[in-house]
Amino acid sequence: MLEVVKGDITRFPAEAIVNAANRYLEHSGGVAYAIARAAAGDAREYIRISKEALREQLGKDSIEHGEVVVTPAMRLEQYRIRYVIHTVGPYCGGVWDGNKKEKLRKAILGALRKADELGVKSIAFPAISAGIYGCPLEEVVRTFKETVEEFLREARSVEKVYLVLYSEDAYRRAISTYNGQ
Ligand code: ADP
Repeated sequence: MLEVVKGDITRFPAEAIVNAANRYLEHSGGVAYAIARAAAGDAREYIRISKEALREQLGKDSIEHGEVVVTPAMRLEQYRIRYVIHTVGPYCGGVWDGNKKEKLRKAILGALRKADELGVKSIAFPAISAGIYGCPLEEVVRTFKETVEEFLREARSVEKVYLVLYSEDAYRRAISTYNGQ
C-alpha cells in the first residue's frame, strides 16, 4: 500500500507523480525544475502550461496548501506516468512545529484526493518541503506516513503510494524513520 523507495521521480512508473511546487508553479529549482524539464523538454514551456492549468482549474494565480493543479505528463508518458499533480508544502527554514505539520498534511492529502478523483491506482511523492523549503526529513516522513495511512481508509481508486527519495542518504534516513527507528 505504502512504500519508501529510492529513485528519480521524473522516471518513476506511477500513474501520477506529485510535484513539490511553489505557490506560483514557477518550477525554478529542485524537483520542480527536474519534472518540468523532463516533461516538456524545456522547463519554461512546462511553467507556461502549469500556470495556464492553474488559471483554468482554480481561477486564480497562486495556490494554497491543500489546493492542487494537474498537468499532463507529456514526455513522462514513456514511463507510464499520466499526470503531474502540483501541491505546495510549507516553508520551514529548519523550524518545525504543529502549523507546518498541518500545512504539509493538507498538501499531501490534497494530492492523494485528486489522484483518487482522477481514478489512478498508483501515485508517487517526493519528500515535499524537505529540500529547498528546509523542513526536517524525519518529520516529513512521519507526517507522510500518518497522512497516507489516514487517506488509505477512504481511498477508492488509489492502491499504491510511493515516497521516492533521490539520494542514498535521504533514502536511508527515510527508511529508518519509517520503520520507527
Ligand atoms: P521543497 O522546496 O518542497 O523543499 P525541493 O525540490 O527542494 O522541494 O526538494 C524536495 C525533495 O525532493 C528533496 O528531498 C530533494 O532531494 C528531492 N528531489 C530532488 N530531485 C528529485 C528527483 N528527481 N526525484 C525525487 N526526489 C527529488
